[in-house]
Amino acid sequence: MKICSVCQHCYEDAAAFCPQENYDSLVAARSGSCEIAGNYRLERLLEEDATGETFEATRINSSEPFIVRIFGGDSFGAERIDRESILREMRAAAAINHPNVYRVVESGVLGNGELCTVSEPVGEKNLRDYLRSVGSLSEVEAVTIARQAAEGLEAAHRAGVVHRRISPASIALAGDEEEGFSAKLKNFDFGGLGQQIARSGITGGEPQIDILRYMSPEQCAGQAVDARTDIYSLGVVLYEMLTGRSPFDEPTVEAIVHQPINERPLEGIHYEVKALIKHALQLALQKNPSTRLFEKRRLALGSRSHNHRPSSGGRTRSGASRRRRPSKNQSGKYCSRRRRRRGFLS
Ligand SMILES: [Zn+2]
Repeated sequence: MKICSVCQHCYEDAAAFCPQENYDSLVAARSGSCEIAGNYRLERLLEEDATGETFEATRINSSEPFIVRIFGGDSFGAERIDRESILREMRAAAAINHPNVYRVVESGVLGNGELCTVSEPVGEKNLRDYLRSVGSLSEVEAVTIARQAAEGLEAAHRAGVVHRRISPASIALAGDEEEGFSAKLKNFDFGGLGQQIARSGITGGEPQIDILRYMSPEQCAGQAVDARTDIYSLGVVLYEMLTGRSPFDEPTVEAIVHQPINERPLEGIHYEVKALIKHALQLALQKNPSTRLFEKRRLALGSRSHNHRPSSGGRTRSGASRRRRPSKNQSGKYCSRRRRRRGFLS
């Protein structure tokens, strides 16, 4: 298979040129055809990092669009792969059916041994781009997006899948600003492969520091992680939505790795962020996983009567702030004292 180095469209090996360019822009990309797993045709390369490649694809015969993620790449060293745990989580992810998670429709092993997932098409917008364009969000908008992401995480955790890579880039915003965004989780780090690779310094494009900024202290330290690592990362994202900056904005990888463990991130938070939200953030950003939790109810109370955007954004209203909150059933269903003490999402 060849890929056009300009438009990233995929072509069979027999193709001589990309009709959209006026010079020879095709480069050899993968062995074999654009058709994979007997069902899908790879159409365009969307993303490439150290854990693999993500393609726009269509289902052969129906032309229905999908996203195909192939886990591979040069740094996919055999010694790093725990194929069984990656496959187990990939298969478990196919059982997640939740409005705040992109649905994995199929997963498995390709003929050449590569691991692969097929999921529903992902929208173009993500929280990273939105934050770049507006600076920071109102409290209502930030809390709404964080709660939706937390709902998606709960569904993943119930299915036995840890995301491990929650960041603004892995929270897509479906819908539009006028009608209201809906957060949808993508880029799951199945089996923790991306986490291992990022710690080793190989990221395949994305700066290592941008990945480590959202990792929990136990992730940064290379320890085993569970669902509670996602709570911490979501806390970091919420902090960034409220303030327009990361709580961990040290300029070097070494400083970032040590900062979540050594420093208290809330000391610099914007003074106008209400006390309830601040307290909820403090709980999400606990360094010790056993005391960490994400209190959706406290966040909702904290944002209910107040919709003030800190000065950096310069805007006062936005789509998500006008959006209906998740129903009480959704937000209250998993809230119990027993779970809170254990440090799970509440
Ligand atoms: Zn092209």
